[in-house]
Amino acid sequence: MALIHRAVMGMIVGQRCRLGGRFSKCAELAEETCQYCGRPFCARHTYYREGHEAVCTASRCRAKRDDLVAYQAYRAAVAARNRAGLCGIDGCGPHPAHECSLCRGHFCGDHIRERMYPFRQGWVTIERPASVCARCWDRRKIWRGA
Ligand SMILES: [Zn+2]
Ligand SMILES: [Zn+2]
Ligand SMILES: [Zn+2]
Ligand SMILES: [Zn+2]
Repeated sequence: MALIHRAVMGMIVGQRCRLGGRFSKCAELAEETCQYCGRPFCARHTYYREGHEAVCTASRCRAKRDDLVAYQAYRAAVAARNRAGLCGIDGCGPHPAHECSLCRGHFCGDHIRERMYPFRQGWVTIERPASVCARCWDRRKIWRGA
């Protein structure tokens, strides 16, 4: 409970950074707790930090942060194309008749597929059929086990 409270405050008093290699643990004092892996980390092991967001330099956490930024750009591009009446995929045609159940973008039949997608419900993952665009399908690997 105390640890959670400190994490919420954005400061971990007196804790050591938990990043670094297996044989070269970082000795710096931690300044933040990673929002993805939950480990405290120091200034040197900070990948991204703004407001309530704090991400450490672990490769899995960097991948999540990078994916989030790229995904936002993707959604904005899809929304712009949809507003013009076009399929969300660059260079594709008009009349997108299908909606991706994850990003809510509209796509043509070629750019969306019915798949068994692993939805998280609390602590369990349930596979349900869903219409998913390629971008949403690809990013599930990055977020699996998040
Ligand atoms: Zn992390
Ligand atoms: Zn460190
Ligand atoms: Zn999608
Ligand atoms: Zn299309």
